Amino acid sequence: MGQLNAGIVPVTPFQQNCTILFDTEDKTGVVVDPGGDVETILGVLKAHGITAKAIWLTHGHIDHAGGAMELKEALGVDIIGPHEADKPLLDNLVGQGQKFGMTGVRNCTPDRFLADGETVSFGNHVFQVLHCPGHAPGHVVFYNPEAKFAHVGDVLFRGSVGRTDLYGGDHDTLIRSIKEKLLPLGDDIGFICGHGAGSRFGDERRGNPYLV
Ligand SMILES: [Zn+2]
Ligand SMILES: [Zn+2]
Repeated sequence: MGQLNAGIVPVTPFQQNCTILFDTEDKTGVVVDPGGDVETILGVLKAHGITAKAIWLTHGHIDHAGGAMELKEALGVDIIGPHEADKPLLDNLVGQGQKFGMTGVRNCTPDRFLADGETVSFGNHVFQVLHCPGHAPGHVVFYNPEAKFAHVGDVLFRGSVGRTDLYGGDHDTLIRSIKEKLLPLGDDIGFICGHGAGSRFGDERRGNPYLV
């Protein structure tokens, strides 16, 4: 098996980082958070010869999950995650989309919800599931210790943290998720987040104004 690699496809008017995680050798992988622009995602997979084995969702917001059902049908794969606490969000993606004038959105029914402590994998790449509520009640983070890598969705950003004014959001809960579940994983863990550039936990622990 090869190394774990990641490619980012910005999707939706929110420029959400739809992320393709894949093995450099056998070119199998997963698509994390296909919020929309499904034709673009399919084009990138094809251009790089990557076979997606599943769709993984970090949480149920429109910019992350809005294209999941369409992509699932196009690829013939399962939708895995997030935590079941985001079911009300996934059941109302059409409503979320209407607020932002987004069309072509469908409500999403995952094939499998995830709980804290479970693992998900493709090939030899195993990710621990961390339930990190606060931005959304069912938000999960995918953590790969071997690669020293995490996909943190909208929990943590470079220099910022997720907003907490949406359904089920709570700022104290979010900060607790970051400080108790993410930062203890180690300063050298690199992460990709839902919007903007990624970072390392150590850089955020020392310099993120919401955490120091
Ligand atoms: Zn979000
Ligand atoms: Zn987002």
